[in-house]
Amino acid sequence: MPAALDIVLLQSHEAALRSLLHRDNGSEAAAYVLFGKAEIAADPWSGQPRMRLISHEVVPIPPDEMVSASAVHVTWSTRGFMRLLGVAQHRGLVAGLVHTHPSAEAFFSDQDDRNEAELARTAFNKGAAGLASVVFGRNEAIVGRLWTSSAETVNASSISLIGSTIRISRVHADDSEPEVLARQAALFGGGFNPVVRALRVGVIGCGGTGSAVAMLLTRLGVGFLGLIDNDTIDTTNLNRVHGSHATDVENGAAKVDIAAREIAAAGLGTQVVARKAWVGDLALRDLLRSCDVLFGCTDDHQGRLTLNRLAHYYGIPLIDVGLRMRSARSGVDYDMTGRVSTIRPGSPCLMCLGVVDPSRAAAEGLRRSDPAEFERRKAEAYVAGGGDPAPAVVTFTTSIACAAVDELIQGLTGFRGGHGMTHNRIRRFDRMEDRAMTCRPVSSCPVCGSETVWGRGDVNPFLGVIG
Ligand SMILES: [Zn+2]
Ligand SMILES: [Zn+2]
Repeated sequence: MPAALDIVLLQSHEAALRSLLHRDNGSEAAAYVLFGKAEIAADPWSGQPRMRLISHEVVPIPPDEMVSASAVHVTWSTRGFMRLLGVAQHRGLVAGLVHTHPSAEAFFSDQDDRNEAELARTAFNKGAAGLASVVFGRNEAIVGRLWTSSAETVNASSISLIGSTIRISRVHADDSEPEVLARQAALFGGGFNPVVRALRVGVIGCGGTGSAVAMLLTRLGVGFLGLIDNDTIDTTNLNRVHGSHATDVENGAAKVDIAAREIAAAGLGTQVVARKAWVGDLALRDLLRSCDVLFGCTDDHQGRLTLNRLAHYYGIPLIDVGLRMRSARSGVDYDMTGRVSTIRPGSPCLMCLGVVDPSRAAAEGLRRSDPAEFERRKAEAYVAGGGDPAPAVVTFTTSIACAAVDELIQGLTGFRGGHGMTHNRIRRFDRMEDRAMTCRPVSSCPVCGSETVWGRGDVNPFLGVIG
């Protein structure tokens, strides 16, 4: 059975293609796209292989290579195509073509089949791993497919447009309207529930904020949840971890298993995959790369760096949550700050926002790889971390979890307006204040400072990180 195929177009690429391919006279037009790929051996929910193509670079066809175009056809010389194949092969990318049907449906015509079969033959003769093709039809409809040989294609089962908004269209959408979600359909209309039912969401960290996020996503009707956390519950977690019982502490229960148990007990048909592991564990690659959206609910700096890269390499929006609680002291007021950042290609990353501390990330890495050395250096005060436990109160952890899930709803529906998700929302609980604070990407940032890793997909080593 051929692998299921998903195509992700970054919004910046989609916008570039739309302007590049627009013709005032309504004729068809074409361009090339280089796609990064995620070769998922086994999607953890279906157990089946899955291929995800992510737009990495738009390559215009030079005007002197265009042969002819009308409202029903477009032809161009394949000189540029040969160059494209060379680049794709050299960089481990998948070559693709995009063409328009300005006044027709998004579909592959018989003519498209014949032309592309010829291009696919050329590509496979040159040793290419595949050839992608996308059609932009009228009314913003898009279809896509991948030639897996010169005679066989796999149609994309979903096309996602990822930017400040999240738009996912699926070929086999279950458009039933379950009664349990009727009240939110009453607000957002009939299109909302099928989208959330099909959504695959990873929740990394299942403590105070993560357990709340997981339960909220369940009630929202998200169909597929992947829960990741390496910790077991302890007594001091019981004040805020949703669904936890005092007996879980005695039993040494894993936080992911507590969340999975409560979600199953809710009985809303959510398919849950729970992994008691650290997010950087390579065994989680298939799960992470299969997600449409990720929630970062960990206070682990090294884990956040992993998610930050993942969002950029694979075009998976990351909604990252953090809290900083400081009690009042003489002359100093409370500082009770919550943060929700939406990280994706095209917006400044967690490093540029100053959310991740690289020295703490390094210390955490050392603690994982060489605990004895970590303790020795900590005793000599060479490494940060492992200080007093951070204060935490259930109302604030839950409130910021709500703010994070609201950001997802905004990305899907635009209920706050068409501007999409707020890049970085800062909530001061002590001041009743909620404001957007963003920054510029640091131009030398290896993650967000240039487009080199946007939609880059699989590379060796994973996420371009050694060790
Ligand atoms: Zn066509
Ligand atoms: Zn950055």
